[in-house]
Amino acid sequence: MANWCGSMDWVKDRALVTVSGFPRPDDADRAVAYYDEDCVTSRRAGRPPDSAQVECCVESVPDGSFSPTPASSHEPKLPDLLIPSLHRFLVRFHPKRIAHVFTDVLIIGSGIAGLRAALELPESLHQIVVSKDQLSQSNSAYAQGGIAGALDPVDDFTSHAADTIAAGKGMCDPAIVEMVVREAPERIGELLHWGTVFDTVNGELALTREGGHTHRRVAHALQDATGQEIMRALIAAARALRNAAFWEQTFIIDLLTFEGRCRGAVVWNREHGKTLVWAKETILATGGAGQIYRETTNPAIATADGHAVAFRAGAEMRDMEFMQFHPTVLYIAGSSRHLISEAVRGEGAYLRDCAGYRFMGDYCEQLELAPRDEVSHAIALQMEKTRHPCVYLDLSHLPQQMVRERFPHIGRVCREFGLDITRDPIPVRPGAHYMIGGCTVDAEGQTTLPGLWAAGEVTSSGLHGANRLASNSLLEGLVFGRRAGLNAAAAAQSATDSFSAVPLISDWPQVDDGTDDELNLTDLRNSLGAEMWRSVGIQRNQPGLESAQKQVEFWSRYVATREFLDPRGWELQNMLLVSRLIIAAALSRNESRGTHFRSDHPSAIPNAARHITLATAPEQTSNSHAPQIGKQP
Ligand SMILES: Cc1cc2nc3c(=O)[nH]c(=O)nc-3n(C[C@H](O)[C@H](O)[C@H](O)COP(=O)(O)OP(=O)(O)OC[C@H]3O[C@@H](n4cnc5c(N)ncnc54)[C@H](O)[C@@H]3O)c2cc1C
Repeated sequence: MANWCGSMDWVKDRALVTVSGFPRPDDADRAVAYYDEDCVTSRRAGRPPDSAQVECCVESVPDGSFSPTPASSHEPKLPDLLIPSLHRFLVRFHPKRIAHVFTDVLIIGSGIAGLRAALELPESLHQIVVSKDQLSQSNSAYAQGGIAGALDPVDDFTSHAADTIAAGKGMCDPAIVEMVVREAPERIGELLHWGTVFDTVNGELALTREGGHTHRRVAHALQDATGQEIMRALIAAARALRNAAFWEQTFIIDLLTFEGRCRGAVVWNREHGKTLVWAKETILATGGAGQIYRETTNPAIATADGHAVAFRAGAEMRDMEFMQFHPTVLYIAGSSRHLISEAVRGEGAYLRDCAGYRFMGDYCEQLELAPRDEVSHAIALQMEKTRHPCVYLDLSHLPQQMVRERFPHIGRVCREFGLDITRDPIPVRPGAHYMIGGCTVDAEGQTTLPGLWAAGEVTSSGLHGANRLASNSLLEGLVFGRRAGLNAAAAAQSATDSFSAVPLISDWPQVDDGTDDELNLTDLRNSLGAEMWRSVGIQRNQPGLESAQKQVEFWSRYVATREFLDPRGWELQNMLLVSRLIIAAALSRNESRGTHFRSDHPSAIPNAARHITLATAPEQTSNSHAPQIGKQP
């Protein structure tokens, strides 16, 4: 290592490298090269003799490489990667031939983030909450372990923040982390107020510990079915709102944009077909993207629709290479990929390989309680080493009564397959679990597209960095859901009512109808899941990513030429688009960091903890059937 030290700052799109203490003249060059490893091209502008301030001129180059954005910067900056979205709208519509509905605030998604936003809107504002399935179907409802907050008198905000930042591997925004952890007790208190029944011990909230946390700070309900209980209470509170209409089984196809602003959405349901919903403000809370992968803990609704619609509408996306793989997903042929909560390891379960060897000591000091990325990675390596398709969770050394009482839900699922969790090893392997990347939001939940707010898993807020700390995402949904609701409400209140539609038309000359006769959507979906799991999963490398990119681009080209008639086709189109974003970002990050592990670049590059931002390439379409629209955002 050279005998110098330095730092790099970003001013707009220029890297400002400050280097000092180098004894040899060429150390300045080496310093710039060192800081520049993750930049594409640079030009030294000057080199004073014993300390240097060197300006690197960072330019985009045609191979899709990037000049990354600093982890905690909110300065507007050109996106690092421009990706053609192939469509602006997935369907055609004409304002003269479609139903119109007007509202003050449109909330897309009825998980924890969407409903928390709904509960923040004053009665004077009308709101529509759209959910593609029933209100009760969301990732939120499947949450098991719990919700994190410094609730114990021996715990504190600093410690919760430090654990979050340590897990995030240099990519967290410290100001956002502090804001979220400080709000945690109040947000959890509100859940109690709305009727959530958390588990208690001697009248106090029972708190468990999960991987990466240095304290017991995870509140849980129904023991290991926390999401179900929180969502029961939130849905009941939301249903009591007099200003809200709930549109279930209604699918958002695309956001409407006009003159650079989000104006609402085009939605579809089986009864009414397509409708244009015009809203003064729109809140996106559509959750995750796990269904893109063959192995996932996510329910069927998690098809990355929100990521795709925001991208097509022109919002900036960030950190798309970071998909968190949960280390322990039940691996039994024929079973759905059921999550075995981190809390199981928190209560003392061991991870063993097929030979019964407790292997975590070979990989991490924190053993089974290391952060998720490290445990997932260790499991993947041990599976490779032992050539066995899974590892095992062992609870047999723990008190049987405690195991039964603490994990009734997991016990029930395993019993269906003849496993007694107090005795039998539980076969597990990692699965796609949480999408860290999403549309960039600031501390108020504002996206880069005016009129569009966002909260929850569909966003990149800066809280999770390169690896989400367990049980921080329900909390994020509450904190940002409330803020998005508050801010959208303030903006909507200051706007006057206008009950006229803007002249926005989606049309293109020739259409291939998307019907099952011509295209086997199930086959394509399975193939996409398998490709993403194989080449863009826990371990990635350049040849694998490039081959996945080619394959996904190929599928996208012919799927994009079609106008589908229902959600099965739109979901596939959304998943293909978001897969392209994940692959492009993963190819651009030539290092391993957090959940993004590149076997061809196994270490983190110092000072490369920077966001990769993506936006849609303006006016780019790669096939002649792509829609021509009246107005672009
Ligand atoms: C098995 C499992 C266990 C988990 N355990 C925990 C835990 O213990 N603690 C924790 O903090 N986190 C946990 N998580 C993560 C956490 O549950 C999610 O990150 C969080 O709930 C996301 O909330 P959300 O409101 O952003 O999205 P969701 O809860 O997923 O809600 C998304 C909403 O958007 C709607 N939607 C999506 N697409 C469309 C569309 N095209 N049109 C209309 N509506 C649409 C859906 O219908 C749904 O209502 C877990 C996740 C899973 C899958």
